[in-house]
Amino acid sequence: MKRVLITGAAGFLGSHLCERFLKEGMYVIGMDNLITGDMRNIEHLMPNPNFEFNHHDVTKFVHVPGELDYIMHFASPASPIDYLKIPIQTLKVGAMGTHNLLGLARVKKARFIIASTSEVYGDPLVHPQTEDYWGHVNPIGPRGCYDEAKRYQEAITMAYHRYHELETRIVRIFNTYGPRMRLNDGRVLPAFIGQALRGEDITVFGDGTQTRAFCYVDDLVEGIYRLLMSDYSLPVNIGNPAEITIGEFAEEIIKLTGTNQKVIYQPLPQDDPKQRQPDITLAREILGWEPKVTREEGLRITYDYFRNLPKERLYEESNHRG
Ligand code: NAD
Ligand code: UDP
Repeated sequence: MKRVLITGAAGFLGSHLCERFLKEGMYVIGMDNLITGDMRNIEHLMPNPNFEFNHHDVTKFVHVPGELDYIMHFASPASPIDYLKIPIQTLKVGAMGTHNLLGLARVKKARFIIASTSEVYGDPLVHPQTEDYWGHVNPIGPRGCYDEAKRYQEAITMAYHRYHELETRIVRIFNTYGPRMRLNDGRVLPAFIGQALRGEDITVFGDGTQTRAFCYVDDLVEGIYRLLMSDYSLPVNIGNPAEITIGEFAEEIIKLTGTNQKVIYQPLPQDDPKQRQPDITLAREILGWEPKVTREEGLRITYDYFRNLPKERLYEESNHRG
């Protein structure tokens, strides 16, 4: 039985990855310090004899008994309001966390994958973004803690690959959504759906002309699985190229929720990228992957998840322990 360590297991993406790797018949060790995660995301996995949870901060020395075939480093605050509140932890999990886990991968002779991000392209001057674009990042702006942590993470992963000949993979994830996002994490989809469900105004930042391209979580997980199983060690974009302005997205959410909420405009956060869309030619060519779930289908499933949550969860405070 193959054994995989997944960090960030109690988070949005980590919990879906744990499910997928269990379905593939692997033994899954989920690791998390719960700084932005939530045990409710994985409580249904706890009785599974092929799953174990290890409460640990990966910026501290990481010890895992037994063999490991794969290490997937997904631990990191991921939402702008999270990493603005906990910038040091964000830098540490990208830098020290990645270093610790690379060291573990060497000892275990495990294949290693990191969750990189479209944020390595910053506020991009090339559109859509291809993997060979080096990016346009403000290292000292408020988003720098995340963007630079992820760029360092890519750099140290490539160094281990080149110097120690470690088998490594780098997935550059573009905005992904689905069940188990935290309603109060500030990302645009849970923000808008939460506002609609609470009967609040929908807060569009800036004039709403900035764009994003949203990928449904199942599509992303399939792309990550294929990349991990491939022999390709340079970065690969995984995302859905269907681009939309945030203003249009707000209208879609209002229509979906049937709530007739009013849109209000608030200041655009500093260094908020003006446009973002993945070029997925490489993923198509080397992984035979492309997204299958339309935004209409994905939003419907996600909305059903949020509206079926117990009412009190709509009003939960942020759970930062940073
Ligand atoms: P999330 O906040 O839901 O999950 C992150 C998890 O990592 C949380 O459970 C948190 O408690 C854990 N964590 C953070 N620091 C830790 C530490 N030091 N030790 C152990 N655990 C720690 O975020 P997510 O959306 O699931 O993102 C997962 C990964 O994917 C992140 O690395 C993120 O940068 C990357 N990513 C996500 C997206 C997206 O659209 N969701 C896009 C690009 C990249
Ligand atoms: N956004 C918004 N209203 C909100 C939350 C976010 O208009 O309540 C905008 C944000 O300014 C950005 C886009 O939606 O332009 C996506 O933001 P998110 O935080 O989801 O992720 P990002 O892609 O910026 O990392």
